[in-house]
Amino acid sequence: MVGRLCHWGPLLALSIIITLFLCGLYCTMLWLPPWTSLAGGIHFAVFITWLFLIMNYFLKSIWLGPGYLPLKWRMQDGDKLGDVLQICHVCSGYKAPRVHHCSKCGRCVMKMDHHCPWINNCVGHLNHRSFTLFLFFVPLGCTHTTVILICCVVQQFYLLSGGLYQRVVFQRNAVVPFRFYHLIAVLFCIGLSVGVTIAVGLLLYYQIKGIITNKTAIEAWIVEKADRPRTQGDIFLYPYDLGWRENVKQVISLCDDYVGDGITWPVTEGCDQYTLTREQLQQKKLKRIRKICCTVVKSYNGRLIAWREGLRTCLCTPWSDEPRMKLQAGEIVLVSRVRKYWLYGEKLNSVPGKIFASGTHLPEEKGWFPRHCVLRADEEESPLKKDI
Ligand SMILES: [Zn+2]
Ligand SMILES: [Zn+2]
Repeated sequence: MVGRLCHWGPLLALSIIITLFLCGLYCTMLWLPPWTSLAGGIHFAVFITWLFLIMNYFLKSIWLGPGYLPLKWRMQDGDKLGDVLQICHVCSGYKAPRVHHCSKCGRCVMKMDHHCPWINNCVGHLNHRSFTLFLFFVPLGCTHTTVILICCVVQQFYLLSGGLYQRVVFQRNAVVPFRFYHLIAVLFCIGLSVGVTIAVGLLLYYQIKGIITNKTAIEAWIVEKADRPRTQGDIFLYPYDLGWRENVKQVISLCDDYVGDGITWPVTEGCDQYTLTREQLQQKKLKRIRKICCTVVKSYNGRLIAWREGLRTCLCTPWSDEPRMKLQAGEIVLVSRVRKYWLYGEKLNSVPGKIFASGTHLPEEKGWFPRHCVLRADEEESPLKKDI
């Protein structure tokens, strides 16, 4: 838990929560002190409750974790599943349905949604409910804080201008004076609070959409690819969508943090436990065929700031958390994504002549590298006619 917390994401998230809480508390004391009236007491209790709920679900999301599949995991019904389940070479086991390997956590994650830097953990089977409730209460708490801060600033302006507002009962017992630098700090917090409300609100919208359709972010992407026209023309039926009520019950339970064992899932009629994994395997096969084979003609040191590779390449560097890949002249890479100055692909531990002989070569490394460092392999050998 402590290890997970000691990371810029959770520390920054905690700093924002505490800053907004303290600022809201300070302004509550000015605007509506809890000891002056019953309304003040209730208001104060509600404000503290938001903090309690936000902190509770934030820490719970980290504490519970997403739920990792045991290392060297296998299904009980034997080795036949090698045909329908994917293998994770890092965890030395099979991947159960809805399981994906997270390169940041270094483990296979049950019902993986995404890796969230703010909790320095994946969002998955065990912490999906806590994370969603955290996202639900943050905009509520922030909106409340924004209202307090704005009311306080408006009131202070009336006071500074010597207006009749001084007679208002709420101000009578204010305990803290409001100075110019307080005003600057409060205005900053209003901006921060509004920004957090919008950003987290958007994230909550996507989470709720995912819960209602019972699709994680990764599964939504798989289904999107499955809906594209395919050579075989068969229609893909998503197996986990049981109707919104049942879908919601799988995540938001009143009593429990999670429902089910994270390995077997209820499926809709006409599907089985492995419908989605079969589709994934098929997509991977297609992806492998569509990759473009290239030979490295110039070495690349794998640095994030590629200033040695020219100004335009350096400026157009892909801003993602995906790794860069070191290249040595003569190596072979399979390119899967193309940008103007950068390519994304995987390195193969193979000799050029045998590269298309079988699909059994294991990828060694994946990452971005400058486009000018590679040349496309001979047109006749390449499985694609598209130029890169
Ligand atoms: Zn794994
Ligand atoms: Zn992760």
